[in-house]
Amino acid sequence: MPRRELRGEGTARGAAIGTARVRYPLDFSVDPAPVARHEVPAELARVAAAIAGARSELDAVRRRLRGPLRREIGEFLDAHALILDDPEFADGIRAGIVERRLNAEAALKAHRDQLRAAFEAIDDPYLRSRGEDVEQVVGRVFAALKRGPGEARRPRAPAAGVVLVADSVAPDEIEGWQAQGLAALVVTRASVWSHATILARALRLPMLVAGREVFDLVRDGDPVLVDADAGIIIAEPDTLDHARLRERQRANERRARARARLRTAETRTRDGLAVRLWANAEHDDDIALARRLGAAGIGLYRTEFLHAGPGADTGEEAQFRAYRDAVLAMGGRPVTLRTLDVGGDKGASGPGGGENPALGLRGLRLSLSQPAGFAVQLRAMLRASAYGPVRILFPMVTSLEEAERALAIVEACRAELRLARIDFDEDTPVGAMVEVPAAALIADRLARTFDFLALGSNDLVQYTLAADRNDAAVASSYDPLHPAVLALLTMTLDHARRARTPLTLCGELAADPRATALLLGLGFTDLSMHPNALLEVRERVLALHAGALRKRVRRLVAAGETRSLLDEACS
Ligand code: PEP
Ligand code: MG
Repeated sequence: MPRRELRGEGTARGAAIGTARVRYPLDFSVDPAPVARHEVPAELARVAAAIAGARSELDAVRRRLRGPLRREIGEFLDAHALILDDPEFADGIRAGIVERRLNAEAALKAHRDQLRAAFEAIDDPYLRSRGEDVEQVVGRVFAALKRGPGEARRPRAPAAGVVLVADSVAPDEIEGWQAQGLAALVVTRASVWSHATILARALRLPMLVAGREVFDLVRDGDPVLVDADAGIIIAEPDTLDHARLRERQRANERRARARARLRTAETRTRDGLAVRLWANAEHDDDIALARRLGAAGIGLYRTEFLHAGPGADTGEEAQFRAYRDAVLAMGGRPVTLRTLDVGGDKGASGPGGGENPALGLRGLRLSLSQPAGFAVQLRAMLRASAYGPVRILFPMVTSLEEAERALAIVEACRAELRLARIDFDEDTPVGAMVEVPAAALIADRLARTFDFLALGSNDLVQYTLAADRNDAAVASSYDPLHPAVLALLTMTLDHARRARTPLTLCGELAADPRATALLLGLGFTDLSMHPNALLEVRERVLALHAGALRKRVRRLVAAGETRSLLDEACS
């Protein structure tokens, strides 16, 4: 096929080229029109070839397996091979073609639906969950069908890396894909504010959100170019595309080199206002980078990533060592350790699922429902405070009552450590995240109850505007500049200032240099962001005049015209 291109929204910057690995959505669409009688043999042949192709692909994946989980992953692949080898699997698809005149894809889907219904009717939860294996096998056969005959032998370019094209990707999956040389991500369900985006940015992986037509445009195995800066994905790029990509990469490198000079610069506006730029961290690498780039401290350490993946050690000792190492790595600058915030789009494991995970047992609620595990985490955090400044932060606080229950557990942990004569800092500050409207509306009381507050704009926007931060379909409703959001930000700032309680903004808004003028104008002086964004935001702060912005932003907020500030920053 010739060169094809599609527009999308770049959510994590950069550009890369690689081989597409397409993970078709489980509800893939098919052409329902019946095939003519003379086309039946060809459709049967396509199915046979696709099953054989999927089978040899499985063997190849198995041969390439390396690393500590080789055996476990091998067992999954064996289970998939058994399904593919089962004559009933192929017979079920063939029946759809012969008896109902479906084309190969539609017959595969119809058979998948039958199998799914059969698995869903099984009582035993383990056996029922094996239905997922069937879904994955069907996905592999579907990819082989879309690839077509001969295409499987198309030379791949593993050296160029993998471009994952999928419906969605969970943050903990991204790391697994990295082991396979992930170069870029194209997904249909995510937004600038998703955790997948946050992680992609952290790992410097270009990411683009595209419409579902991407599954028609890109076939598994195609060479693809993803330019998240320009918002474009090109299947089978030509030599001109390659040349443009190289030019863009060189320009990015030049800009990065120029900014590197700001590593040691003090972060002050032109009129002398000191702005503290903190770093958000998920990984050891983030902490090292934050230190190198002169972050004021770690403003948000997302501990859920320590708990991600099978086999993660979540015992007190393992957690303590991770927190202590972070504290030592920051060399005396504060590290804000947030207690577990699984649920919603964070690929919740455990009971945080529910019908509507974003509104379910997540964040502090989940920790309070499992007080023993919560205490393990709190003790580990307190123990780390013996090695340098630590701040403990609770996510998703919604009421004073739950805040007080959580504080009582912190107090009990302190008492236990004292009794056991284990060192910790008695004055370790404890803070609350303001990331649901309820918390912003009681910010006066939260500011008096806690030692510091952290504003999580990612969730605050989602919960204020009832717009899922992962759902590209409502991306235009997810508006951090909505007057309701700005009113809640201002309210929280005012209450924090009145109570003299430090406040940091740690959502993705803080990392957006286009928003820096607005944030300083509103009155924020502490911004926490992924370390990759630190120098760019610092560059912006140095160019701004805080006094002038304060007056101007107040006027613009009143007139509902704040967007002009963002536009100015782009020009
Ligand atoms: C937020 O919600 O803004 C935030 C910083 O927390 P997270 O992105 O981890 O939900
Ligand atoms: Mg949040």
